[in-house]
Amino acid sequence: MKNEQTKNAEYDVVIVGGGISGIYTAWRLIMAEKINTPFISKSKDQNLRIAVFEGSDRIGGRLLSARPPGFPNMTCEIGGMRYVSSQKLASSLIENKLNLPRHEQNVDEPINIVYTRGHRLRNYQLSDSDVLPYNLSEKETEWLKEGNTASDLIGWAVEQLFPDVKTLSGENLEKFLQKATLDDIPLYQHGFWNILAKVMSNEAYQLAKTTVGYDSLGMNANAVNSIAEYFNFTPTVKYYLLNDGYDAVPWTLQKQFEEAGGEVHLNSWLQCFEESSLSDGSGGAVLSFKTEGGMKSVKTKSIVLAMPKRSLELLQQKGPVLDPVKAPHVRFMMNSVEPVDLYKIFLAYEFPWWEKTYVKAGRSLTDLPLRQCYYWGVEGQQPGADPNNKNSMIMAYNDMSNSEFWGGLRDSPLGPGNTIEWPLPVNHKIRSLLSKNKSFERKPMPHAKTDQADEWGDRLKKNWEDRPAPHKMAMEMHRQLMEMHHVKDAPEPLEAAYMDWSDDPYGGAVHFWNSGYKSWEILHEMTRPVDDFPCFICGEAYSTNQTWVEGALQTAEIVLQKHFKLSEPDWLKND
Ligand SMILES: Cc1cc2nc3c(=O)[nH]c(=O)nc-3n(C[C@H](O)[C@H](O)[C@H](O)COP(=O)(O)OP(=O)(O)OC[C@H]3O[C@@H](n4cnc5c(N)ncnc54)[C@H](O)[C@@H]3O)c2cc1C
Repeated sequence: MKNEQTKNAEYDVVIVGGGISGIYTAWRLIMAEKINTPFISKSKDQNLRIAVFEGSDRIGGRLLSARPPGFPNMTCEIGGMRYVSSQKLASSLIENKLNLPRHEQNVDEPINIVYTRGHRLRNYQLSDSDVLPYNLSEKETEWLKEGNTASDLIGWAVEQLFPDVKTLSGENLEKFLQKATLDDIPLYQHGFWNILAKVMSNEAYQLAKTTVGYDSLGMNANAVNSIAEYFNFTPTVKYYLLNDGYDAVPWTLQKQFEEAGGEVHLNSWLQCFEESSLSDGSGGAVLSFKTEGGMKSVKTKSIVLAMPKRSLELLQQKGPVLDPVKAPHVRFMMNSVEPVDLYKIFLAYEFPWWEKTYVKAGRSLTDLPLRQCYYWGVEGQQPGADPNNKNSMIMAYNDMSNSEFWGGLRDSPLGPGNTIEWPLPVNHKIRSLLSKNKSFERKPMPHAKTDQADEWGDRLKKNWEDRPAPHKMAMEMHRQLMEMHHVKDAPEPLEAAYMDWSDDPYGGAVHFWNSGYKSWEILHEMTRPVDDFPCFICGEAYSTNQTWVEGALQTAEIVLQKHFKLSEPDWLKND
């Protein structure tokens, strides 16, 4: 890791934010043979000075893979976990360019549990209106009797409003939705929940939310984007997990970027940036960072802010882009999206006690705050693993008000003698912020001696150790898991780690477009919010593939192709 003296340094490009969009942009720029823009140019054999400045102590951002002791062949995903076969940028990068090992993820197994309103059902019963504890309308009951399943109720409702949607996909679907109207009002001005309420009962809506697994369906987000997202997931799409974790993507890009001469500066929080002239008399910007060694400023010809909405809000609102008086339209665009909380906790056990209820893969669902329970797997059943190692993991995954429930089981970071300053203390760790918190008392995992002891293994281990779950949170999760499975004698968990992504500087795990905004226009405008200043913004938050790495890569590619004039990557899969 280079950590050179940055005082008075001048760069061609400074990228702030080392999540996937930031490190990908840096990697693409350093690998480009030719760049020719009004603000920088590069020909073959000429090196540009490019640096990534990241506030935390790691590259990866909301991709956060981890490994507890005793699981040498398994990787947890505390942040983003999977990509989808239909995601062109992500799947091409992983499969064609980086060639990272991956495997298909099972999601909905017929035998898995749906525990709702105190009734314990199995997935295959979701078409049987007689056993569903919901008071559905006659029409909804009839539709289920035709062999349809409760989790598809949302699609059925949308098709009643727009019968053409089921015949469209990709760009054609997006164009249709952008022009669509409902009650003579453009669709983008409607909230998704509002339009569903026109054609489905509240009971059916509650049932759909429970069985889809996400309460964020109730966020009433922009109807255009919600429908596009829903219908892009046809039954033929496949989900993939990376064997070494999704974090392997930013990590591989980081290594290649540094090998090619790029600089990565960790523990450097951007405070603000302003217009400035450079030593050769040309125009550029000066950025101020808070680092372990104190404040540092660097100059650059161009800036890429690769960060979500909340991170932008936390910067000092001054300068040509963020000063709301100088650039009110930027504030308007920043407000077009809303962060959404997602919460994940992993519990590790000595053996998979849940398997006695006949569940072993995919996920079970409940309306308890734990919501989605993924059977993450048994170490001994992984390829190449020791079959005697029965160490097992379960992941609970939920959003919105359920995240609030789990958030309540953290101790407040504030209290007498325990104040938090902004910017975050350099090299902060969740654990140190929550110093009053009683962490889960980790117990020795069997087979811990077999752990992978190399650079990647150490990194995964550190990610796990840095995020211990509070004791009462882990034990409440354990209790809800037992209730859901109707098991009275499960052994207590030995290890627990979690992350609440609503913490700064993220403000939420993912983002949704608010109704009233034309996302397909802001998508482009936000990538260069002010015409006469070379500051570019990318990341998942202002993409039209929100909630996915695909969105982070989408906006990064707009910055690279439209503003830095790079050609389309040659590893992209053709349709
Ligand atoms: C729980 C969860 C589940 C998810 N599931 C999936 C999934 O299954 N599949 C999928 O594709 N996607 C998933 N996602 C979304 C995916 O993880 C994100 O879309 C993607 O990682 C976002 O990348 P980014 O570069 O836009 O932003 P980020 O990853 O948020 O990166 C921003 C970076 O900027 C840094 N930063 C912020 N402010 C400053 C500052 N002032 N100075 C310096 N640095 C700063 C941050 O520390 C961070 O590293 C999930 C996300 C979460 C949290």
